[in-house]
Amino acid sequence: MSQARKLYVKSFGCQMNVYDSRRMADTLAPHGYVETATPDDADLIILNTCHIREKAAEKVYSELGRMRRLKQAAEDDGRRVVVAVAGCVAQAEGEEIIRRAPSVDLVFGPQSYHRLPALLARAARDGRAVDTEFPAGDKFEHLAAPAVSAIRARGVCAFVTVQEGCDKFCTFCVVPYTRGAEISRPVQSVVNEIERLADAGVREVTLIGQNVNAYHGAGPDGRPWSLARLLERLAPVKGIERLRYTTSHPHDMDDDLIAAHRDLPKLMPQLHLPVQSGSDRVLAAMNRRHTRADYLDVVRRLREACPALALTSDFIVGFPAETENDFADTLELVAAVGFSGAFSFKYSPRPGTPGAEMANQVDEAVKSERLERLQRAIDDSAAAFNRNCLGRTFDVLFERPGRYDGQLVGRSPYLQPVQATAPASLIGEIAAVTITQIASNSLFGALAQAPPGAAAQRSALVSTGV
Ligand code: SF4
Repeated sequence: MSQARKLYVKSFGCQMNVYDSRRMADTLAPHGYVETATPDDADLIILNTCHIREKAAEKVYSELGRMRRLKQAAEDDGRRVVVAVAGCVAQAEGEEIIRRAPSVDLVFGPQSYHRLPALLARAARDGRAVDTEFPAGDKFEHLAAPAVSAIRARGVCAFVTVQEGCDKFCTFCVVPYTRGAEISRPVQSVVNEIERLADAGVREVTLIGQNVNAYHGAGPDGRPWSLARLLERLAPVKGIERLRYTTSHPHDMDDDLIAAHRDLPKLMPQLHLPVQSGSDRVLAAMNRRHTRADYLDVVRRLREACPALALTSDFIVGFPAETENDFADTLELVAAVGFSGAFSFKYSPRPGTPGAEMANQVDEAVKSERLERLQRAIDDSAAAFNRNCLGRTFDVLFERPGRYDGQLVGRSPYLQPVQATAPASLIGEIAAVTITQIASNSLFGALAQAPPGAAAQRSALVSTGV
């Protein structure tokens, strides 16, 4: 057998990119590639890029400068190194990447990674290959299944992409241009993957998609199934104890999905539901397709269905023409909902999106000042949520050893990291933990005598928000 070739994949951005990177490694494994943790000794270097934040492309070009030097040094030693750029920057910039970074051998977009072996062969034959097409439906049918050893090495919590792309066209967002139209994987393909993960020891699965609750994959009956129906199908899978999904759009939170939060005990009481702004004027300019009242109504219905539900969100401050009054509406919404956490960013114009062309771009200093105020409000809300956990007993799924001997780290139902003294045999198990201390980024607790299972329900946090 030929000597294994080393693969180094660097992921930028979101969990979907991390998932894609793993599937690239899975696809290349049968072709003799093994993953390495450093680019220094790699034969193939893949930068799996993200275009969502400002200067993302510039970061990639600077990273490519480093890779060029590594490639040159390897070639001086008589070793061939292939440098590839994948993901959303590859999709958006295509040939431009090769023009600016001639040491790059291969550029391919998010819909092409299953074709990686063929693209590598093409790059070897022709000196270079670029593939940034949107071959609808092709990718999910050709995903290589991960080896059991790879699944085990990745831990007891897994992400599974069930949906990609977006048809919403929010005016600040590049996703519809870089990931294309919404595509959903067929139900059976998702079930097969999750059963395989469960057999290899995975206990928690997060279904991911750019707009995951717009899921409409073909069911075994040949009809499109909703995300609620998919979750219902997955709940009985043996070995899977917890289900989550992200990222959702408020407009697609239908009655069935809301009811799933009431009816499926394995669906964790935590939801990331981006709102972006609390102002109707800004939401309309963002083309969000929902108002502030729509969002608050969805939150109310979710909490009626699942009183323990913890909500997190995304916010953009300083969208073009945002006034101080608009921003005050955002702060009011944060106070009204009582988020357990949220991501917040200054608006940055993304080339090619309508927002970038809008008049009345907000001054950077104003954006910074508003962001600071918003982050304070979010931090206060998250701290209040965490304080409310003190003394309560939650089910914790232990994932890995902690920083100190004898300590394990796991997650509460609300996705908070929890550290506790516990035997290593509990990795992959759910145990009841009483929270004894709150730190800024995690909770500390002690194993409780209570049997796991009912702890989360018994000690459920009842939201005081909307
Ligand atoms: S719904 Fe999400 S992914 Fe789609 S355009 Fe809006 S922000 Fe982007």
